[in-house]
Amino acid sequence: MKTLDKKNRSLKDIRISVTDKCNFRCGYCMPKDIYNSSYQFLKKAEILSFEEIELLVNSFSDLGVEKVRLTGGEPLLRKNIHKLVERIKVNNKIKDVCITTNGVLMTKEAVNNLKLSGLDRITFSLDSINESSFKKISDTNYTPSDVIQGIENALSAGFKNTKINVVIKKGINDNEIVDILSYFKNHDIEIRFIEFMDVGNTNDWSFEKVFGRDQILNEIEKKYTINKVKDLAQSSTSEVWSYDYGRFGIISSVTKPFCTNCTRIRLTCDGKLYNCLFSSNGYDIMKFIRPFYMDDKLINFLSNLWKSRDDSYSLDRKKIITVNKVKDKAEMSYIGG
Ligand code: SAM
Ligand code: SF4
Ligand code: SF4
Repeated sequence: MKTLDKKNRSLKDIRISVTDKCNFRCGYCMPKDIYNSSYQFLKKAEILSFEEIELLVNSFSDLGVEKVRLTGGEPLLRKNIHKLVERIKVNNKIKDVCITTNGVLMTKEAVNNLKLSGLDRITFSLDSINESSFKKISDTNYTPSDVIQGIENALSAGFKNTKINVVIKKGINDNEIVDILSYFKNHDIEIRFIEFMDVGNTNDWSFEKVFGRDQILNEIEKKYTINKVKDLAQSSTSEVWSYDYGRFGIISSVTKPFCTNCTRIRLTCDGKLYNCLFSSNGYDIMKFIRPFYMDDKLINFLSNLWKSRDDSYSLDRKKIITVNKVKDKAEMSYIGG
């Protein structure tokens, strides 16, 4: 069933945050002064089980969803995450299942289990290959080598279309754009540079801290010859360029928003739906799940929710920030990116 929102966008993909916990404390996502020992993470009983997520994916697939991205927090902190992938892969309407991870728990055993479960792709996040700058950004004791080992494990297990997300913050890691691209030039990997976004309320975002798409391109052109690759998928969030050794992408939510193609909905690990990454309100769907799963009522609710969707935050950002001043946006680690 094809469902269109108020801006004529169909519902094609879902991002599911499977946990609000993480073993990193990236300042742009979970700054340590807030996410510390006194922070109240969700309790186990509040979190959707694998069975519940499977049922939800099946309902969403009836509304046209074909792509599922598992995220978090750190999705690998969810024990036996491959068993969730196995459940989702049974549904043949779902064409693509992917995980976004910081990579440090991608051991050989974990990637092999994920490969066997049918996971289609892995996207890693790595903002720096320099040890001290990586530590500053992620605020953990892990090192870039731990992430790179996870990436190597995934490639060895036969994963294709592997991507690496690199969030660029002005004055923090903009000097590493070419280094990161060059480091992975002989790997079958697409680097995707992401503009620092104003998700949530805790990351101290401002326009001045954004190192934009054109500046990123400018850096890369100093070293490589680049050519824009025609957009392959209409719903893609990234623009892609070829360079001397392959391809790279840029996700420019701030300087070149892509809301007109936004076909995704977001589900938090405690069963709230968000129509937009920058929404303040999530729609609680637990009442359709517990104590009994009410498929018909849920599908009716989801269909009406999508039909009423009018979001285009990034296109309207300047006005929203200066005039409307949105408060209480959902945090990235909760909504899942
Ligand atoms: N923990 C996993 C990871 O880091 O890959 C998955 C969750 S994380 C929230 C998903 C993605 O969002 C990561 O690639 C991360 O770099 C990105 N992200 C988080 N906060 C961001 C921000 N403020 N601006 C841009 N990207 C952000
Ligand atoms: Fe954790 Fe990912 Fe957020 Fe970093 S970006 S704190 S790794 S959830
Ligand atoms: Fe989609 Fe909202 Fe991002 Fe626009 S701002 S692309 S509507 S999530």
